[in-house]
Amino acid sequence: MKSKLPASAARLLALFAGISLSIPAHADPEFADCLNRLRAESVQRGVSLATFDAHAAPLQADRAVLGFLDAQPEFVTPIWDYMAALVDDERVADGRAMLVQWREVLERVEASYGVDPATVVAVWGVESNYGRNFGSRPLLTSLSTLSCFGRRQTYFRGEFFTTLKIIEEGHVAPERLTGSWAGAFGHTQFMPSTFMRLAVDFDGDGRRDLVDSVPDALASTANFLRRGGWRSDESWGFEVALPAGFDSTLAGRRNKRPLADWAARGVRRVDGQPLPVQGPASGLLLLAGGAGPAFLVSRNFDALYGYNAAESYALAIAHLSDRLRGGAPFVIAWPTDDPGLSRAERRTVQQLLIARGHDIGEPDGMIGARTREALKVVQAELGLTADGRAGQRVLQALKASVAPPR
Ligand code: CA
Repeated sequence: MKSKLPASAARLLALFAGISLSIPAHADPEFADCLNRLRAESVQRGVSLATFDAHAAPLQADRAVLGFLDAQPEFVTPIWDYMAALVDDERVADGRAMLVQWREVLERVEASYGVDPATVVAVWGVESNYGRNFGSRPLLTSLSTLSCFGRRQTYFRGEFFTTLKIIEEGHVAPERLTGSWAGAFGHTQFMPSTFMRLAVDFDGDGRRDLVDSVPDALASTANFLRRGGWRSDESWGFEVALPAGFDSTLAGRRNKRPLADWAARGVRRVDGQPLPVQGPASGLLLLAGGAGPAFLVSRNFDALYGYNAAESYALAIAHLSDRLRGGAPFVIAWPTDDPGLSRAERRTVQQLLIARGHDIGEPDGMIGARTREALKVVQAELGLTADGRAGQRVLQALKASVAPPR
C-alpha cells in the first residue's frame, strides 16, 4: 500500500515543483479551468493556498450575476421616485432611533474622524437601510464568476483575491460575506478593495468587521468620508432659489464659485434669505433642470458623491442627514405632476395590486419587474398611461377603485 502524503505536504511539494494542483472534479469544466488559473495566481496575490483551497476551490459559478454586468436599466428611475423612497418618513424615523441607540459610539466616531452623527447615520440608512439590507449573494461565488466570465475580469479578480485576504486575516466570518451581485457587503456596502483601504477596527477586537460590528461600520464610513475630503466645520450645502431667467449653464457640482459670486447672480436661500457671507466655494446642483429644486453644494457633497459616484445618491444622503437633524423636506417641488411614492406607499400599491388578483409576491416596497408588469395592466384598466411606474397618480386611482360605493 502506498503511503499517502498529507494534503498540505502534497501542496508544498507541488509548489516547489512549480506545479499547480488541480481543482477537484467539477461540473463546470470551464469554470474549473479558471479556478485553477486563479489558484496559480493566489500566492503572488497574497492569499495562501490553504485559504484558497478552503474557500475558493469548492466554489460553483453563478452565471446569473453576469446578467447584471451588462444590464441596461429597463426603466430609468426619475429623481423624484428615487428620492421619495430613499428619504421617506420611515427612514427618517429609523435613523433618529439609530442616533439615539448608537449615540455614544457616534460621538466617539465624530471625535476621531470629524464627521457628525447625522451624516454617518444617513450613509448607513441609504447604503443598507441601517443594516437590514446587506444583499444575500455569497461574495466569493459572485466574484469568482465575475473573475472568470464577462467583460471586467481583471477588476473583479482584484476584488476576489481581496475577499480571500479579508477571510484569511479573520476580519469577517466567511459565511457572513454576502452582498450585492458586484460584491459590496456589510453595513457600509464597501467593495472588498475599499474595505482594505478604509475599513477600521473601532470596537477594539482587532478585526475590521463591517458585517457584525456596528461600531466598526460607523467608524469606517466616517473614515471613508474624512479620506474623501470631508471638513467637519462645513456643511454639504443647502437648497437655494434661483432668480427668474437664471443662466443654468453655470450649473454643475464641479463648477465651484464663492458664495458671494452666486449671491451677486441673484441666488438666495430657498426661504428668501441672502446666502451666508462665509462658506465654502460651492457648485450649483440641478438634478431636474432649472424648474426643480436647486442646491449649492460644497466639497463635503463631493465626499458623499465619492461613496457611489452618483449625484442623486449623494443628494439622498445629504437630504436624509438634514432630515435627521430635524430639517424639512425640500421647499421647491420636483417638476412633475405625478410625484413619487414612499416605501409605505409602494407597499400600499402592491397590496392593492394583490387585492386585484395580481401575483407580485410579498408587498416589500420594492418596485420590481413583476410589480411593474401588473401596474401596466392596471393603469390600462384605470385609463392611465400604461408605463408601469408607481407614482401618486396610480396610487390614488387604485385607492379610488376599491373605495366603497356611496
Ligand atoms: Ca472590530
